[in-house]
Amino acid sequence: MQTKKESPSLSYVPPNPSYASLVRASKTCEACDLYKNATQTVFGEGPTRAPMVFVGEQPGDQEDRQGHPFVGPAGRVLDAALVEAGIPRDQVYVTNAVKHFKWEPRGKRRIHSKPNAAEIFACHGWLEAELALVKPDVVVCLGATAAQAFLGRTFKITQSRGQLLDGAPWAPKVLATYHPSALLRMMQDPEAYEKAKSEFEADLRTAASVVTFANASRPAKASTESRPRAVPTSTTAASRGRPRRPAAR
Ligand code: SF4
Repeated sequence: MQTKKESPSLSYVPPNPSYASLVRASKTCEACDLYKNATQTVFGEGPTRAPMVFVGEQPGDQEDRQGHPFVGPAGRVLDAALVEAGIPRDQVYVTNAVKHFKWEPRGKRRIHSKPNAAEIFACHGWLEAELALVKPDVVVCLGATAAQAFLGRTFKITQSRGQLLDGAPWAPKVLATYHPSALLRMMQDPEAYEKAKSEFEADLRTAASVVTFANASRPAKASTESRPRAVPTSTTAASRGRPRRPAAR
């Protein structure tokens, strides 16, 4: 991604942020309109230094109510797949490209509404601040929204799903796969569901193959690769303790 302008949410990110100060500051964010209809900001959670970060699209209904990411039905699908892939849930950081729940009413229900490009870009500052803090070895993008936030709007998950890619800012490797919600939607077609579930778990294993978890029962293969970070050479924000500048998409 090429840096052209700064994500509006970066103006809310404190200098030299700790995780706690990021969470605190994110609660005041009004960088786009999504805060107006949501219950609360749902910030990422997990170890503040984690080898693997999962990025979804946005909080769902349950996440919005509870204030935690991936605690609803999609979170349970992710948790089960992590177990299958031998990835310790307590050693990964989970977050979303957008931190407020975007929804529309349908009767008494709140139905997920896909965030638009401006909202995703507005929220990108928080994502970058998280990644600058957590410093993962691999970012797993769950679904097209997260993948396009990292890899550009032309990225096609149908073409490049499950591939470990180089050159993404803020992590040496990035891999895009299904969003767990997509698996949930496939459950009415058992054959399609089983195929996608198997591919999803295989993708997670691929991502885990470049990291090492502490005391994992099935440790992932350690990477022998160096960690070149494809970051804009024009900024020294990270060295000043601020997250690197976001890229316009
Ligand atoms: S969605 Fe992101 S940018 Fe928009 S108000 Fe919420 S935290 Fe701020």
